[in-house]
Amino acid sequence: MLSMASKLPLAVREVDAATTQHLITHRRELHASPELSFKEDETAHYIAERLETLGVDRLTRGVGGAGVVAEIHGERPGRSVLVRADMDGLPLTETADVPFRSTHVGVMHACGHDVHMAIALELARWLAERRHELPGMVRFAFQPAEEQAGGAKPMIDAGVLDGIDRVVGLHVWSQLPTGQVAVPRGIVMASADMFTLTIRGRGGHGAQPHLTIDAVVIAAEVVMAVQTLVSRETSPVAPAVITLGSVHGGTAANIVAGEVVIQGTLRTFDAELRALLLARIAQVAEGIAGAMRGSSEFQHDSGTPPVINNPAMAELVREAATSVLGKDAVVPLEPLMVGEDFAYFLKERPGCFFMLGGAPEGPPVVHHTPEFRIDERCLPIGFQVMCAAVLRLLQPD
Ligand code: MN
Repeated sequence: MLSMASKLPLAVREVDAATTQHLITHRRELHASPELSFKEDETAHYIAERLETLGVDRLTRGVGGAGVVAEIHGERPGRSVLVRADMDGLPLTETADVPFRSTHVGVMHACGHDVHMAIALELARWLAERRHELPGMVRFAFQPAEEQAGGAKPMIDAGVLDGIDRVVGLHVWSQLPTGQVAVPRGIVMASADMFTLTIRGRGGHGAQPHLTIDAVVIAAEVVMAVQTLVSRETSPVAPAVITLGSVHGGTAANIVAGEVVIQGTLRTFDAELRALLLARIAQVAEGIAGAMRGSSEFQHDSGTPPVINNPAMAELVREAATSVLGKDAVVPLEPLMVGEDFAYFLKERPGCFFMLGGAPEGPPVVHHTPEFRIDERCLPIGFQVMCAAVLRLLQPD
């Protein structure tokens, strides 16, 4: 902490009780009113109102949808850093019996984006109060629709990265102990593609299969064949996942289905492997369907690149995290097969995405489940690390 503090014009001292209280209040208010991707209007309103009260230098609403952008201009020379926080919840019904439980039926902050917003809001306050000492400019991007991977690009297209030198973001992680952070020097998360295979045959009477082309039987072959791609066509040391998570077809026991729709996802860490597997999924399905007198149509529904940190930026954030938490708290983390559209920011600017430990006490919980919980003690820790990281990234070096 001391070596770092001496290098910075500002230092992150102990997080005081008022700051912790702000963090908890923001997080709980946002947690109680989650909204789905592309519908984050109340959330954006909450954020924009708070930012306005802080007297930020520029506040823009409706950036690339419900996005909110705010700037804080330091009075000393320095770089420009973008801090991104995602805003959306998920279509789940929360099971936890807590006073700040979701009041929006069937919607839940089950990935911790409430934590990300609370930390960014409080960081904006902290920095706004220290403008005279602050080097450079910090721009906050509150981003909609991370869960649908549709929010980052519209914000970037709207110019949110114009004039920005470096980008930083965090994700709370329920499988990492509270008190720890992970700042990978390269791969953080996988690419995430969603696709649909529509298998077409010819429907008919269940008792006269010879007069039909059974799309269910074709789909069964396709499912099994697609599952051989990773085992037989990719290197065993290059990770990839293909999950066919949804198969729908047919209407009754005695009717041969004429169409089956299969939906799946592909995860990899490598651009070439990603392109190869997407092409092979389509080819294998087409070949099998064709051989069985039917057809298959491949549709690429969405895709985000892998989340890969710039090693130099990751090093700066590691230094910052070590300075506030000590080196034992900065831990390694295996690359995660989940996806994140912060990838688009990292493709455009050098930056770093780090994982904030938030494992709650009691049985382990997984993101994107109705049981999801987070240890709120991660809030001041995340604030402190993000604060130190931003201050370090602002330095002209
Ligand atoms: Mn998330």
